[in-house]
Amino acid sequence: MQIFACPACGEQVWFHNLTCSCGAALSFDVAHQEMVTADAPCRHRDTLGCNWTSLHHHGACLSCGMTRTHPDLEVPENRAHWSETEAAKRWVLDGLVRWGWFVPPDDGARPVFDMLAERTSAQELPVMMGHADGQITINVNEADPALRAQRQAELGEAYRTMTGHMRHELAHFLFWRLSQDNVFLDAFRALFGDDRQDYAVALSAYYDKPPAPDPAHITRYAQAHPHEDWAETVAHLLHLTDLTDSAAAAGFVTGGDAYRQGDTDVLLNRAVELAISMNHINRALGQPDVYPFVVTGLVREKLRFAHRWLRRVES
Ligand SMILES: [Zn+2]
Ligand SMILES: [Zn+2]
Ligand SMILES: [Zn+2]
Repeated sequence: MQIFACPACGEQVWFHNLTCSCGAALSFDVAHQEMVTADAPCRHRDTLGCNWTSLHHHGACLSCGMTRTHPDLEVPENRAHWSETEAAKRWVLDGLVRWGWFVPPDDGARPVFDMLAERTSAQELPVMMGHADGQITINVNEADPALRAQRQAELGEAYRTMTGHMRHELAHFLFWRLSQDNVFLDAFRALFGDDRQDYAVALSAYYDKPPAPDPAHITRYAQAHPHEDWAETVAHLLHLTDLTDSAAAAGFVTGGDAYRQGDTDVLLNRAVELAISMNHINRALGQPDVYPFVVTGLVREKLRFAHRWLRRVES
């Protein structure tokens, strides 16, 4: 993520800022990747703290416009969780916009989000996060750190964040878009395996007996099914690209726009070097590793494939 400049005073401001310390009200113009004054705010600015500009007069922004269902707001905490979930969605969408998705000339389908809460006024009801035919379901209560930590321990995951959920589910959506091209599908199956194998059977086999970590998969869960391997691979490509882009914006490294880097190995080498350095810094403060994964040669091959298909912009 880049660091932006206030249009009124020029001071640095951050992606989620609604105002600058000079008092100016800020809006983020995603198409131009810049902060502007808040003349055309998203209609969820006051209710959800969305700082993007609206696409149409008094309308929603690009991101809020993708949300079809909101959680039960009778439960007071759900609004805060929804707002945090939307913030993670905007962050992740911004990276995809920089690769040419969801803004002109991309006229393909946009994802449709159902933002549900497992805690409703009527009952507690499990929400399965997932993607089906262009529609993404998110459990907004995962914005609650206690709930997330509990699930993370139960499932033995090294990482569990709302940003990670967004990247993973949007990756399934992007597969759905790309799979209309047989050239993509054939190459995908050669590298990730046949995605036509029974998904429900594969998932239940995974949860019955989770396999040991394996060097061909970025996470254990990636072994569950080729679809999950793709989603985990793409999520990590997005993590590593954003890590590099944010580190450059913060002045830790030089080397141009990470989203315009067409050479996957150059991008990954820089990202891995940064991750190792940042893990070291975190250990000094008693914090967990910022990136607790090993990018093996086999995983790199999949990352290269995903990078080639997801970058719609020229270098
Ligand atoms: Zn300012
Ligand atoms: Zn919005
Ligand atoms: Zn998945």
